[in-house]
Amino acid sequence: MKFVTFESAGEQRVGAMAGDGLVDLTGLVGDMQGLIEQHAAQLPAIQAALAGGHAAIDPGTVKMLAPLPSPRRNLFCVGKNYVAHAKEFGQSGFDSSAAGGQDVPDQPIVFTKPPSSVSGPGATIPRELDPHDSVDYEGELAVVIGRGGRVTEQDDPMDFVFGYTIVNDVTSRELQRRHKQWLLGKGIDGFCPMGPAIVTRDELPDLAQTTIKTWVNGELRQSATLDQLIFSVPRLIADIGRSITLQPGDVIATGTPEGVGIGFQPPRYLRHGDVVRVEIAGIGALENPVS
Ligand code: ZN
Repeated sequence: MKFVTFESAGEQRVGAMAGDGLVDLTGLVGDMQGLIEQHAAQLPAIQAALAGGHAAIDPGTVKMLAPLPSPRRNLFCVGKNYVAHAKEFGQSGFDSSAAGGQDVPDQPIVFTKPPSSVSGPGATIPRELDPHDSVDYEGELAVVIGRGGRVTEQDDPMDFVFGYTIVNDVTSRELQRRHKQWLLGKGIDGFCPMGPAIVTRDELPDLAQTTIKTWVNGELRQSATLDQLIFSVPRLIADIGRSITLQPGDVIATGTPEGVGIGFQPPRYLRHGDVVRVEIAGIGALENPVS
């Protein structure tokens, strides 16, 4: 199933896509957080609502929001999780995390983005909030956690997955470089466009062969398959959840492939009027203009 958060008549609603239509589930589950928490219990009612799709809404008539517009806590993110990107980042001179010139990490690099960084499909990326005008894009698969708890060695980490969405891990490269950590450069308001939908885990059974692509103004900049992840989705869940209790609605952004703006010489930062489009087959396309 494919779930979205949208705005209709000034109100935030949650719904499921049913063919070309959108079925409002707000009365059943409240919001996306409620849907994730109550998904198993409400599944028969959700399926009944979808089957009776005659009340479907035309998605063209509503405004799509981030599927989780206000996550309960920071989003977990992973740095340098594709070999080719780790190398382009290492060679760019912006990587203050590489010890002894080591580009490809031997353990996942985990950082976070605050909930206030999240924005929705179509929302403008506020370039002016980077004092150094060094804004870059990073198209990424994001995992949405459905089951809470710590992950033990007896667990299958994939059992914790509710579904997947897309994020653009927008970054101020100068803040990232100068402050020698990643929160300030990546946690900026509006620097985490998310969406357009959360698809449930069963909709992407062959994650490894799923493609991710990023365009800037129609020019293809990133193109990869998810089997190129250095640390796989279950590995990331196991490493994060070993000692941090996972909560339903947690988001883990899994890192970006090669082709970001600082991979070019000179860097190609985002400019006023640019449009960034990140597409993952089976989830959809996330498109955002730049201020
Ligand atoms: Zn990233």
